[in-house]
Amino acid sequence: MIFDTHTHYDDEQFNEDRETLLAHLQDNGIGTIVNVGASLQGCQNSIELAEKYPFIYATVGVHPDEVGSLNDETFTWLRQQCDHEKVVAVGEIGLDYYWDNESRDTQKKWFIKQLNLAREKNLPVVIHSREAAQDTLEIMKEYAKGLNGIIHCFSYSVEMAKEYIKMGFYIGIGGVVTFKNSKKLKEVVSEIPLERIVLETDCPYLSPVPNRGKRNSSLNLKYVVEEIASIKDISPEEVIRQTEANACRIYTKCGKSIS
Ligand SMILES: [Zn+2]
Repeated sequence: MIFDTHTHYDDEQFNEDRETLLAHLQDNGIGTIVNVGASLQGCQNSIELAEKYPFIYATVGVHPDEVGSLNDETFTWLRQQCDHEKVVAVGEIGLDYYWDNESRDTQKKWFIKQLNLAREKNLPVVIHSREAAQDTLEIMKEYAKGLNGIIHCFSYSVEMAKEYIKMGFYIGIGGVVTFKNSKKLKEVVSEIPLERIVLETDCPYLSPVPNRGKRNSSLNLKYVVEEIASIKDISPEEVIRQTEANACRIYTKCGKSIS
């Protein structure tokens, strides 16, 4: 079944129909979901969702736009959440020079601290990197050695994707790959092995064609699957099977419950 490695079902855009939507996902071929924490409140909400639904897991981490909320006290809280039985990774963490919401030094400081937290807790990481290709790679080379995880919503070059794959990381592919103007991402999918790709929605954001611009959900992943299958000239079933196996290899706590 489809494994959605990156969702935000705690977002207020789902307030009206969250329960109904989540209740129908498994009937529609969606097997497992990881709800990703981006703010401290988002981490708390993700854990609550994971406690409520057997097929939902959580990550905890603070997005570069939100690192202003981190201090010794909140970081201690974050560290404690890593021990929850349904917390499967630290993320989403990284650098965002598109919004530049926090100073770049502050972003880097908390990115490194959260990479170290993942190592301490023996968890994989979910990386967010926007318009910060070089700095992200430099920090990862120095501080993410021996870690694994996902470069989420990958937006860089084929060469950069190969660098991360060499380090043992996986590449998160979502709705953007279906956009007409996403030539670069289609090339990345074509050039890297299926064994290194995982599916993600980042919902409610980044809905694929033909639902571009609307609220996204895991139900739309079938369009991403079709696009990857057509780029790689393989069957959609093969895409679903392999990306699910990949996701279970990263989020090892989910793998146990599936097998
Ligand atoms: Zn996200």
